[in-house]
Amino acid sequence: MNPKIILVTGGAGYIGSHTCVALAQAGYRPLILDNFSNSKTSVIDRLATLMGDPPLCVEGDIRDAALIKKIFHDYCCESVIHFAGLKAVGESVKQPLQYYDVNVAGSLTLFAVMKDFGIKHLIFSSSAAVYGEEKEPPLHEESLLHPVNPYGRSKLMVEEILEDLYHMDSHSSIVRLRYFNPIGAHPSGLIGETPSGVPNNLMPYITQVAVGIRKKLSIFGNDYPTVDGTAVRDYIHVMDLAEGHVAALQKTERSSGLSTLNLGTGRGSSVLELVEAFEAATGKNIPYEIVARRAGDVAACWADPSAAQKQLGWGATRDLRTMCADSWNWQLRASFII
Ligand code: NAD
Ligand code: UDP
Repeated sequence: MNPKIILVTGGAGYIGSHTCVALAQAGYRPLILDNFSNSKTSVIDRLATLMGDPPLCVEGDIRDAALIKKIFHDYCCESVIHFAGLKAVGESVKQPLQYYDVNVAGSLTLFAVMKDFGIKHLIFSSSAAVYGEEKEPPLHEESLLHPVNPYGRSKLMVEEILEDLYHMDSHSSIVRLRYFNPIGAHPSGLIGETPSGVPNNLMPYITQVAVGIRKKLSIFGNDYPTVDGTAVRDYIHVMDLAEGHVAALQKTERSSGLSTLNLGTGRGSSVLELVEAFEAATGKNIPYEIVARRAGDVAACWADPSAAQKQLGWGATRDLRTMCADSWNWQLRASFII
């Protein structure tokens, strides 16, 4: 039997590329649609090495309805995993129109063509950013939704659109996945996260300090009401996240429905704990200084992942040490291979 083709929008990006590997391992054939605005075309060759076969790939934009029609016309595709989008919180405040255009209008374009072609299975990349500032850990799917920036609002808008679409067609099967803090990389070191410019996120900043691209880490605040005063997050290995998508896809194949699920480990780590774990896993010293809090940061945020465990039979298995070691392995190779 031919493997099922899964359209993976944004499949060349950080989470999408790891999910393509997990999909191939589970016997699916990913078809990537990506405009490479935040990824490199060379990832396709590296995916071919990891997957055994090159992934199907179309270069283009999710806002291009004619292109998506052509894809569904050319390939028999029952399911879509929708990663493509813009994800930098700070940038979303400066360029809200661009964020609503790509994240919301782009999703609408995709969903409209899926409807025309009768494609009913969808996994959507949402974010813990939909919970906003008033979050009290652990976050349950029913926790208050109050995004505090255009990025988070764009994710919540799409979640709401999907609710309406499910009510329009209860034979559809939709899973909205709210990710916590993905870090790490494939253990091969062939794919990983490639932030452009100065990294906003903690782990890429740490690995760039470790490799000597940056002098020291600035830790944003040590006066939070947490174990050591630095902010606490739920870091999850990107391969655990990728496997969560395969489990969600299999759920959509079993039954119709609309689900919203946190993908996190259920464990919080402070900034200093992550720095220490990185130093222990890699033997590298990470110089740091404490600076002022970053606007918009909350003290602590971690997931209650029990709904995903129950509904998907999925749980994160990789520990902080593995996350750090794999991030470092990727950083060491990245400058040679991308
Ligand atoms: P990424 O930027 O690495 O990947 C996104 C991919 O989408 C990139 O390859 C980019 O080129 C592509 N893309 C962007 N705009 C496009 C467009 N208009 N048409 C086609 N392709 C387009 O990001 P990621 O970290 O892999 O995130 C994937 C998804 O998960 C995003 O929707 C993001 O908002 C969401 N998410 C990410 C995180 C995180 O911390 N990385 C957390 C929560 C949610
Ligand atoms: N952080 C930091 N220095 C950095 C980047 C991040 O101290 O250079 C902190 C940030 O304030 C937050 C945590 O690390 O408390 C995780 O930040 P990140 O941007 O990776 O993820 P977020 O949870 O904000 O989406």
